[in-house]
Amino acid sequence: MKWGMVIDLQKCTGCGECVAACKLENNVAIVEPKEAEMGRTMLWMDMLTVYEGEYPRLRVRQFPRPCMHCEHPPCTKVCPVRATYKNEEGIVAQIYPQCIGCRYCMAACPYTVKSFNWYKPEWAPGIRETANPDVSVRPVGVVEKCTFCVHRLQKAKEQAKSEGRNLREGDFQTACAESCPAGAIVFGDLENTSHRVNPLSRSPRATRLLEDLGTEPKVIYLKEVD
Ligand code: SF4
Repeated sequence: MKWGMVIDLQKCTGCGECVAACKLENNVAIVEPKEAEMGRTMLWMDMLTVYEGEYPRLRVRQFPRPCMHCEHPPCTKVCPVRATYKNEEGIVAQIYPQCIGCRYCMAACPYTVKSFNWYKPEWAPGIRETANPDVSVRPVGVVEKCTFCVHRLQKAKEQAKSEGRNLREGDFQTACAESCPAGAIVFGDLENTSHRVNPLSRSPRATRLLEDLGTEPKVIYLKEVD
């Protein structure tokens, strides 16, 4: 089993629904504009902007960028305390109580998907109650990032076990895939030929970010049709 994601850039409209859903699902802190200007934005799913061509034939496009959950993640290799690792199902995870906040992993990540908690998390009155109880709130001084909504996987596994069956496609969806109104994000087991991500990941339109680094991202993009 190897969890992965396909993002179809032909379908993605750049609406940002996936970014909002990820923030809510994972209790990702809202950062003040002043802090964001200092590069302290907290986003597990970001929306990247790419400029193509030159004015007046300039084209601007946006695309979602979660953690790539690399098969060969550079971040796990540099962590001095093994607070970040790749699990047996291919998910790159963080162990928050173990993280000493050195940020080596942030420096090593070529996709800049990790965020550092500069402050103790705080909520405006009434907001704390809306936090997702299935996801821990990260303390000040640790690094965090997209987990492929691993807490949902855990729940889906427990549900399947209680029903005496194997996990089925669709039992487990990430919040971003579930929220995308254009159906541009497909999530599943890359090794299972009955999961939609399997044939999609082998599409002639399939491409990975910074492929030449040899990280083998498990997030695959489908290029737009010309
Ligand atoms: S910031 Fe935390 S997870 Fe990252 S390398 Fe340092 S100890 Fe490991």
